[in-house]
Amino acid sequence: MTVRTRFAPSPTGLLHIGSARTALFNLLFSRHHGGEYLLRIEDTDRQRSTEANTAVILDALDWLGLSPDQPPVFQSTREARHAEAAQALVEAGRAYRAYDTPEELAAMREQARAEKRPPRYDGRWRDRPEAEAPPGIRPAIRLRAPREGETVVEDLVQGTVRVANAEMDDLIILRSDGTPTYLHAVVVDDHDMGITHVIRGDDHLTNTFRQVQIYRALGWEPPAFAHIPLIHGADGAKLSKRHGAVSVLEFRDAGFLPEAVCNYLLRLGWGHGDAEILDRDEAIRLFDLGGVGRAASRMDYAKLTHLNGVHLRRTDDDRLTGEVLTRLAARPDLRVGDTVQARIRALMPFLKERAGTLVQLADAAAFLARQPPLPFDDKAASLLTPENRTRLRELGAVLAETAFSRTSVHAALSAFAERSGLKLGQVAQPLRAALTGSTASPPIDVTLEVLGREESLNRIAAANAGN
Ligand code: GLU
Repeated sequence: MTVRTRFAPSPTGLLHIGSARTALFNLLFSRHHGGEYLLRIEDTDRQRSTEANTAVILDALDWLGLSPDQPPVFQSTREARHAEAAQALVEAGRAYRAYDTPEELAAMREQARAEKRPPRYDGRWRDRPEAEAPPGIRPAIRLRAPREGETVVEDLVQGTVRVANAEMDDLIILRSDGTPTYLHAVVVDDHDMGITHVIRGDDHLTNTFRQVQIYRALGWEPPAFAHIPLIHGADGAKLSKRHGAVSVLEFRDAGFLPEAVCNYLLRLGWGHGDAEILDRDEAIRLFDLGGVGRAASRMDYAKLTHLNGVHLRRTDDDRLTGEVLTRLAARPDLRVGDTVQARIRALMPFLKERAGTLVQLADAAAFLARQPPLPFDDKAASLLTPENRTRLRELGAVLAETAFSRTSVHAALSAFAERSGLKLGQVAQPLRAALTGSTASPPIDVTLEVLGREESLNRIAAANAGN
């Protein structure tokens, strides 16, 4: 059997980070088994599904490296097939036409409420001859659900879960306007797409019993199911906007690397020994559903940022330079050209040591894209005392005569500090302030080398000229 999984988002909103994890698990599971991973856009809710949301979902999946192996299937294009399957069930006696009026259904619900019973359909058209159908009523099609026994699901994450059939009523599979209900459409689509494993959020577990009943009625073998726990916020409530970023593209904008997000999502609720840092290949090799926990996991933004930093440091410097340049180019106060690009690339091994996100990395690199006079942050400004400025002037004169290699400037700074009876840091910090506008930067000798003599001297002069 070829394993075939699918991710089935509804385009009624952006791609939620929890849904992205569902997509990831589907991809990893199918890849692990050498199978296929498909995408179905569940756009049957015409009011709430938009093309813009679909585009964002596809974009987010692409960014995460979770694009499907085949073009997506749009559920809305399959309504005729859904209706056909419902009609076939009627013909086989496994479903029936129900001619209830909205008033009758409302009265049924009302009575259930008065008797403190769950509002279930009472099955009044289950065995009633169609000849008794009132005129002018278009029927809905309801499943002739089993009333005895129980429906059992051997879930690959949750274990055996069961529900008494008496708890479930005859659900509508085709509405009176001819449109399929969601539960029915999913069954027909998963069957037709040859899905072998349905991996989805555990909020769908109750739907599964209904869907299994539909599979059985259609004479189809249900796929294997794996219901994965949802992601919660730090307070234990379902993850939502008030906890922080939830839409995948917000994480992109906030400067996270897609591989770090995937690594984090994988580790959230799945474990394999003490493996923490996993790239895609390793994840595919190790992933199994047995490693998925049953408890809800909690989103920890600080941990994600830490993990992102770890991935940043493992990322190729050319790629990081490209990411930083894109971000800096969008800032009106900066100018990026070839020189700036070369500077950023040269300092990247040092810059990335300290950054947690691409946004922080771009901020740390921004000084390289400025023209003097630089803006100074408070700490830097406080270092530009009259005494330090005098020293910077002297230092400028020394640097004007120094070869601008890392070792030469280092030697020159050390000699200058010694002559002035100062520690190297006392010389380096005001100089750093003058060159970068801040008190944190890569090592001062490398910073000087990368800026070059002319630019360094200009920056020193501008710092001395300012107030
Ligand atoms: N469209 C459903 C959702 O977005 C998923 C249904 C499923 O995976 O079966 O929650």
